[in-house]
Amino acid sequence: MEGAMEHAATPAWALLAYLVSGVLFILALRGLSSPSTSQRGNRFGMIGMAIAVVTTLVTHVPSRQYYAHIPPDGSPFFGPDFAGIAEILAAIALGGAIGLVTARRIKMTDMPQLVAAFHSLVGMAAVLVGWAAYLNPTAFGIAGADGVIEAQSRIEMGLGIAIGAITFSGSVIAFLKLAGKMSGAPIMLPGRHVINLGTLAAIIGLTGYFTMDQSLWVIAVVTALSFLIGFLLIIPIGGADMPVVVSMLNSYSGWAAAAMGFTLHNTAMIITGALVGSSGVILSYIMCKAMNRSFISVIAGGFGAVADAGGEAKEQRPWKRGSAEDAAFLLGEAEQVIIIPGYGMAVAQAQHVLREMGDQLKARGVRVKYAIHPVAGRMPGHMNVLLAEAQVPYDDVFELEDINGEFAQTDVAFIIGANDVVNPAAKTDKSSPIYGMPVFDVEKAKSIMFIKRSMGGVGYAGVDNDVFYMDQTMMLLADAKKMVEDINKALAH
Ligand code: NDP
Repeated sequence: MEGAMEHAATPAWALLAYLVSGVLFILALRGLSSPSTSQRGNRFGMIGMAIAVVTTLVTHVPSRQYYAHIPPDGSPFFGPDFAGIAEILAAIALGGAIGLVTARRIKMTDMPQLVAAFHSLVGMAAVLVGWAAYLNPTAFGIAGADGVIEAQSRIEMGLGIAIGAITFSGSVIAFLKLAGKMSGAPIMLPGRHVINLGTLAAIIGLTGYFTMDQSLWVIAVVTALSFLIGFLLIIPIGGADMPVVVSMLNSYSGWAAAAMGFTLHNTAMIITGALVGSSGVILSYIMCKAMNRSFISVIAGGFGAVADAGGEAKEQRPWKRGSAEDAAFLLGEAEQVIIIPGYGMAVAQAQHVLREMGDQLKARGVRVKYAIHPVAGRMPGHMNVLLAEAQVPYDDVFELEDINGEFAQTDVAFIIGANDVVNPAAKTDKSSPIYGMPVFDVEKAKSIMFIKRSMGGVGYAGVDNDVFYMDQTMMLLADAKKMVEDINKALAH
């Protein structure tokens, strides 16, 4: 019996240790729900992960003593084919070193694509674990000496490989789109829903068939079709739906890890995977609500997307350009200023100078508030992280729905590197790829300052923005950090 084998292989203390790490992961998620407790949450997560890794190493790495307990006839939980401690430590050192160097070198603006790249690794790991288990089932304790794999394990293996492969190819496409190595616009294949549904049905059907026939071709076709559908599901998603994709792939990577946990009989992995998977689903749901999108249509791949999401031809319309001195004068005279940061602030790393500007204005008696759109930037929570890094007080930071009613009583809406999240086309233009997404009502403010580098640049969704041409708008064309530094200088005079 597989269950009996699992209990024999995982001692009670290890199960308890896994439970402790599971609890620490839950505390970590709880901590991460607010910026003020997120560091503590991260620490809980790290401790939980350390406990899980050490427990797995101690209980699962074959040692002479361990082998002495393996019944001569039974299949060992991990057999002699499993890597020894030296190989495992070398792999940890190598992976750890790559992770450390990458994390140290990565720019904050490249974080979203890094996250996508990491998700793809989780997916690939699930595929490789599944294949390793298929090729050497006795070593994983899922087959007798005759090599026939238990039916339940075949389902786990099929699902693990399928979810892993979808996560891998989907994340690679997300990486390419976020890194700008592939157009962010949706790519629509004719008949894609039929192709997607057919492919999905074939994967499910073949996984079922795999329980009866463990031939190599079945699992090979499941793997290939899953790689394909991951690709097909993500290419039609573009523009404003990418945030949902990022959190969805996060969720898939959790389910892939949970599936791996079943194959490896590792309780900690099942718990962790399920936590990541379900929190990813919740995050995707929240992002969908923020974007006013239906969850099902986004995961089905581009149902809601508009085919012509590419850059529109811009008409020549009059607009006003301002200088840092003009901006400083108006800001200094204001009673209330609402600052709306976006992706460009992250690119320019302008958060610190922005906080200094806020402090200078507050010292003059101006009420300063920061407004964060749920999809501002390129990853969930992007702006919260940057503002927290610059030590902007949490009490000054407001969510979209809490502040949107205040623009009518605001003197200056100060838009710094944001674009799609303040685009009124989302409210009025049915043909716009961002139509339906809630946006800040900046046009209700007495005056609007819009920092961006040029009139030509567009936001992520690739569309023009009427706010540039409004009467009360002053375009501040420059790198965000440079412009705010100049405003700070002018305010100090
Ligand atoms: P946008 O991407 O809409 O706009 C960015 C703006 O910043 C542009 O106007 C750009 O103009 C300007 N900019 C870029 N670099 C600089 C710089 N160095 N200095 C000054 N300005 C700069 O940003 P938003 O944050 O408003 O919107 C986020 C978009 O990203 C949404 O469409 C969202 O759907 C999408 N997205 C969000 C994800 C998430 O999880 N949050 C994930 C994936 C996509 P210019 O080039 O002229 O300077």
